[in-house]
Amino acid sequence: MPGGGGSGQVTAMDTRVRRARRIDAQDLFVQTLEQWADAVVVIDDQSRVLFINAAAERFWGCPRQDVVGSHVDTLFPETLLTADDPGSSRDLSILGKDGQMRWATLSVSRITQKGRPLHVAFLKDITQTRLQDIEHRLLSLSVNATRSATCIVDAAARLVYVNDGLLQLLGYSREEVLGLSPLRFFVLDTEVEQPVLPELERTFGGEPHEVSALISKRNGQRLWVHVSSTPVFDAWGQVDNTVIVLTDITRFKLHEVLQDKVVGALLKEESLENVLTLMCQEIERIAPEVIVSILGVDADGILHPLASPGLPVEYSRAIEGLSIGPIAGSCGTAAYRGKPVLVTDINHDPLWADYKELAGNAGLRACWSIPVRNSCGRVAATFALYFRECRGPDTLHAHLVTAGTHLCMLALEREEARQAIRRMAYYDGLTGLPNRNLLLARAQRTIAEVASEQAELAVLFVDLDRFKQVNDALGHAAGDELLQVMAQRLSSVLREPDIVGRLSGDEFVLVLPRRSATQVTRFLERLKRVLSFPASIAGTSVVLSASIGISLFPGDGQDMESLLQCADIAMYQAKRAERGSFSFFLEEMNRIAQSRLILETALRLALAGEGLELEYQPQINLHSGTLVGVEALARWVHPTLGIVSPERFIPLAEECGLINELSQWVLQAACGQLAQWREQGLTVPSLSINLSPINFHNLNLAAQITQQLQRYELQAADLCVEVTEGVLLSNSPGTEQTLKELHALGVRLAIDDFGTGYSSLGYLRHLPISELKLDKSFVDDLERDASCRALSESVIGIGRGLSLLVVAEGIEHAAQRDILKAQGYEVGQGFFFSVPLPSEAFRQWLLACQGMVPPVSHESPLAALD
Ligand code: C2E
Ligand code: CA
Ligand code: CA
Repeated sequence: MPGGGGSGQVTAMDTRVRRARRIDAQDLFVQTLEQWADAVVVIDDQSRVLFINAAAERFWGCPRQDVVGSHVDTLFPETLLTADDPGSSRDLSILGKDGQMRWATLSVSRITQKGRPLHVAFLKDITQTRLQDIEHRLLSLSVNATRSATCIVDAAARLVYVNDGLLQLLGYSREEVLGLSPLRFFVLDTEVEQPVLPELERTFGGEPHEVSALISKRNGQRLWVHVSSTPVFDAWGQVDNTVIVLTDITRFKLHEVLQDKVVGALLKEESLENVLTLMCQEIERIAPEVIVSILGVDADGILHPLASPGLPVEYSRAIEGLSIGPIAGSCGTAAYRGKPVLVTDINHDPLWADYKELAGNAGLRACWSIPVRNSCGRVAATFALYFRECRGPDTLHAHLVTAGTHLCMLALEREEARQAIRRMAYYDGLTGLPNRNLLLARAQRTIAEVASEQAELAVLFVDLDRFKQVNDALGHAAGDELLQVMAQRLSSVLREPDIVGRLSGDEFVLVLPRRSATQVTRFLERLKRVLSFPASIAGTSVVLSASIGISLFPGDGQDMESLLQCADIAMYQAKRAERGSFSFFLEEMNRIAQSRLILETALRLALAGEGLELEYQPQINLHSGTLVGVEALARWVHPTLGIVSPERFIPLAEECGLINELSQWVLQAACGQLAQWREQGLTVPSLSINLSPINFHNLNLAAQITQQLQRYELQAADLCVEVTEGVLLSNSPGTEQTLKELHALGVRLAIDDFGTGYSSLGYLRHLPISELKLDKSFVDDLERDASCRALSESVIGIGRGLSLLVVAEGIEHAAQRDILKAQGYEVGQGFFFSVPLPSEAFRQWLLACQGMVPPVSHESPLAALD
């Protein structure tokens, strides 16, 4: 120590000052530590706590006297003091004495006081930041994990953050999208729910906003999303970022968009076809990779395309009319099973075996079809998605199908309801027949059609007889039943374009297009027969009877109203005359029809009993005068009508379906007669009968002929069948077969009235014909008309050329015979030789000319030969 006493004073003062300073410094230091925001802990070389400041008290949540003097471990692990790198800091969490968890950044310094090494630990409380960190981490975890797709754009509307949900939704990777404008993912090129662009721009433009829009995934698939945006502002109120959340609302939106359109169309009373077509188009717009097809399935299980605007027309046309079944493509099978059918490879799936070419030509590779049931639970349609590649449906397709089938069902139900309403408006509830309105409308349309074809049409006014009595006697329910039976029976006699309707009460109307008065008369006959069966009404047998008035278009009126009026008047005429009868409006028509009807009834009776006879006319060899054959000709003498010419009753028999019966009778009578003559020792080389072309539609004809030949022990060569060229005009497939069968049997075939037909002569070469009969009209004028001679000459030429026998008929004079003879004809027939004779007269004639009986009262029949 330098200096003496003085210096001792100074020294003492100095020491005081120094001590004061030192105390001040220590105090300052301690006070400073006390004020220090971080916790400070001083630890001695025995690892005991020497000092903690106020911040440390707060940090550990306990007063310092609780810890000063205790082991450092009560505050934090001692090991932290011996860290390798004393200058370094580390974060640690500490459970305070008050039970609070706090975080701090710890740094430890080593100092020496009076030779004692001490540790000073500084703990910076980071609890607040830590908690925020955790919150952020959890927040971002939750944002990522959420199913909603979230992204954040910057002030320039570029993506700066995307969550996993968004990437999943779009199918892009994070790198691909960051920095892009989210606008590019939205579909802005279709009119679906557009224009949303301005809306979307607002979304990214710094206002909270919500909009729904269509986006396109990386793979082109489309989704409906709900977009919700929330802007985040900086301290100056400028938009810093916008948080955008997208939610997939495809399912709901599809329903909504489709439903809007489809229901809108339904409300506008669009047709079923239009509604369904619109739906197909909407769906194809949302999912351009599919083609939608909707097929109707009728009650018989037949498919009818309802809508498929995306399919080629030929494809739909080919499907029309196909049956549903266990192996019938996707739709036919789905309808059959009543369950969806997915075919991912049309070309190789057995269900498509029959139709794969068809599908292939249309570029279709896969098809998913779903049955659509109507309100009664029947599969009334199928809803199908076709793909142009081998594949199955994805979720969007599943949504589309759910929405599509639902709306399809709705549309079908609407259609059913519509039809029910239509039925109520246009149909008679009791009988189900068209009511007056519909009847008149349809009739008017048909009249227009018929007028353009210059065809005829008949209107029948049908009025039940004694309806009031039935109603009064048996009650109204019975009356209703009677009307229903009547409706059924009327409907049963109609053919395709005919119309029937109930006018009112017991009045019905029939409209028969393209029918002449004759055809109507036959229709009336049939109708009468159908009505004549007794009906069981309310347990009683009732015979239906109706009076019918008929008017004809165009004769009686030009429109339905006037035709109906005429038919009504005619009906009253009929009722006055006799219940259950009919009357034409025009008296002339009436007379013809009535007599025709009488004739037809009489012919039926004649066929069933007596009145029909055969007469026989010989065919003579012009050179030798001998009998070559006999033609049997039908005769009908009616007790009151007198002689009815075959020219009249043969066409009548043809028209009213009696010709087969008649020919059968002729065949049997003629064969029986021939057999009888032979038994009597008469020489009749051959017998000809006449058949109508209609007889050749009868596939049993050959068998029936065989039967009669056998019955009378005749040879097939004994019989010749005469038929006009009309037989060739028939397009019945049976005709040619029957002709060949007759030929095979050995029965000869002659063409009657040869030369008058219009058919080409080609048939002579390939049909099995043996004989031609030169028509009487050529023979008539032989003497006067050179062209007739030329024609008869050419006919004999044809006969010679084809080795056919030619018979000249209608020879009345020797001069005619001579010309024909000179031309080379060998056989002739006509009044000149003999008129057709009844069987007994013919026998006499034959006996006379065969010299068995000397001629008695008349000259030798064969004198004509000289
Ligand atoms: P067709 O087969 O050409 O019969 C010949 C017709 O000419 C017969 O008239 C006959 O009586 C008549 N005739 C014969 N020689 C002479 C003559 O020298 N002068 C005149 N003026 N007439 C002569 P018919 O018996 O009235 O028969 C008319 C037509 O009726 C027949 O013409 C035939 O097409 C048809 N026909 C007659 N009987 C039958 C039959 O049993 N079945 C079928 N399907 N048709 C028959
Ligand atoms: Ca004949
Ligand atoms: Ca003839």
